[in-house]
Amino acid sequence: MSSDGNPRQTAFEELVLDGLTRTFGSYTAVDGLNATIRGGEFVALLGPSGCGKSTVLNLLAGLLEPTSGSIWLDDERVDIVQSEKRDFGMVFQNYALFPHLTVADNVGFGLAVRKVAKPERRRRVREALELVQLVDQADKRPAQLSGGQQQRVAIARAVVTEPRLVLMDEPLSNLDAKLRLDMRTEIRLLHQKLGLTTVYVTHDQQEALSLADRLIVLLGGVVQQIGTPQEIYQHPQSPYVAAFVGYRNRLPLTVADTRSDTTRVRGGDVELLAAGAELPQHGEVVAMMRAEDLTVTSADSPRGPNRISMTVRVVEYQGNHYAVEGRTASGSILHAHSTFPVRPGEDVTVAVDPERLRLYAAPDGTDDIDDQVALAAEGQRI
Ligand code: ATP
Repeated sequence: MSSDGNPRQTAFEELVLDGLTRTFGSYTAVDGLNATIRGGEFVALLGPSGCGKSTVLNLLAGLLEPTSGSIWLDDERVDIVQSEKRDFGMVFQNYALFPHLTVADNVGFGLAVRKVAKPERRRRVREALELVQLVDQADKRPAQLSGGQQQRVAIARAVVTEPRLVLMDEPLSNLDAKLRLDMRTEIRLLHQKLGLTTVYVTHDQQEALSLADRLIVLLGGVVQQIGTPQEIYQHPQSPYVAAFVGYRNRLPLTVADTRSDTTRVRGGDVELLAAGAELPQHGEVVAMMRAEDLTVTSADSPRGPNRISMTVRVVEYQGNHYAVEGRTASGSILHAHSTFPVRPGEDVTVAVDPERLRLYAAPDGTDDIDDQVALAAEGQRI
């Protein structure tokens, strides 16, 4: 869709990654990746360091060849097309600008290579510089610009040719925190304006959730989940995805009983009710919650279900709430939010909405999801 709400013409309807696999010696960096990206979509490839994100991007860009599998734009097979003939625009972490060329010439480079006539080139470069608000810097060299400005030049250069696909590999990771936020908004705005199909690599879940129409979560070279930011945030399909997208709290519990859309779980002095679809029906489970969904209740609030008692260990003031770390009687560490101050050593009760509690069958072998996520990131299978 364009910003005026009308469907936009895109260069293709579907980009299909079909069983995409890449090995380096005996090591499999990307393992049988299947995904379909629609024309005009902004898709983030999200995962921890080493999970294979850049390898996927480099396969798309044609900088690497797949060991097996293929890449299709509608019915055109592109993994066998030379990189420079794919008509893709690229933005890298390190900007990769030509230092001896001016900003305008950097942006116009791809148009010059395509032998676009000078007046047309000048017009399109100006338009691209307007988009990234750098018209005033057109005659400077990259070294005379800030990091954020350099990255905007790189983005203008990638989109000026209106490529069929824009590929971005951690483009904001060299910028400071504030600039990263500003640039995030600019990239989103640019996508709204131009509607270019974009694949964006990041290990930052906030960045992926806020930028993308859909996310592909990778761990250990394997797709764990594909979904909208809302689906990934609210309904991570596995404990690994949950852990990666910020479900910090984990409690090992056992299913006590189930109804049509609720499951009661127990362990020690904790008893919790989870609501929603596809809940485990029996056996050992791991219950997972975000810190912001686990709230400290005040002494005068009415007693209700889904309470857990804990002793406060650490309190951090965070502006609109206090981040509270506590320990349950059975020794589990929990992270919660409180709207009022509490003190280390204090006994408090925290509560979670049954809709915000995720239950997963306990993984085999170990109950430490973090270890498993780390192993997955190192390429080991989970
Ligand atoms: P990061 O965020 O740290 O860049 P990533 O998710 O992009 O990580 P990749 O760069 O795709 O990960 O690497 C995936 C795995 O493949 C890593 O374990 C890496 O060491 C390995 N790998 C990548 N390129 C090569 C190569 N040219 N030769 C050997 N191994 C490689």
